[in-house]
Amino acid sequence: MATVAKDFSIEEKLAAVLSLQKIDSKIDSLQTLKGELPMEVKDLEDDVEGLQTRINNVEQEINTINEYIAARREAKKDAEALIAKYEKQQENVKNSREFEALSKEIEMQHLEMRLCDKNIRDAQTELQEREHLKLQNENLLEAKREMLAQKQQELKKIISETEAEEKELEERSNHAKDTVDKRLFEAYERIRKSYKNGLAVVPVQRDSCGGCFNTIPPQRQTEIMQRKKIIVCEHCGRILVDADLNDSVTV
Ligand SMILES: [Zn+2]
Repeated sequence: MATVAKDFSIEEKLAAVLSLQKIDSKIDSLQTLKGELPMEVKDLEDDVEGLQTRINNVEQEINTINEYIAARREAKKDAEALIAKYEKQQENVKNSREFEALSKEIEMQHLEMRLCDKNIRDAQTELQEREHLKLQNENLLEAKREMLAQKQQELKKIISETEAEEKELEERSNHAKDTVDKRLFEAYERIRKSYKNGLAVVPVQRDSCGGCFNTIPPQRQTEIMQRKKIIVCEHCGRILVDADLNDSVTV
């Protein structure tokens, strides 16, 4: 690509880098907009997965309890059958000793039946608790799923809405980069990377640096307004521009 040699004035250099900053800041704000949603979606996905696992575990417990209840019901039936059998045998005993022995067996099986009833009652109480817990988790899961669907929708919408804008801004940023003085651009990149908010060029606001808010002495402010030198903040190193120049550059 052919480059046209041009002796940019400091003012032009400042305006160019300021313009680049404003475009890049717009890109940053689009990223921030999306920034929280992917995290929220991820958290909700984790919640949904966790609840699903919890429900599966409770379901397994419910199955185990149901199997236990069925086994105890069978045991009760067995005891009942034994009682019937012993009672029948009592009708044909030869002596009272045999009769007594069978009576003891029958008494044992009655105890066994009562124990089965108690086991079943206890298990049913536990079953109710588990069913309640399952229902609670299912309701929670449904609510989380709804929230997740909503957030996914929001994220999808923002991505589709910002995609075009982001692409356009990226192109403009690339074009703007070409207009910035090479050394100034290097400084811009270095400063921008060192601050979380990505601000490398800031205006003077209320006698202070627009980046770190430290006061700028009047003499320095005058120099900034003259636009004859590139002046950086002595506290944070950001490139300073006067408020009028800042207002005149719009992107
Ligand atoms: Zn500063």
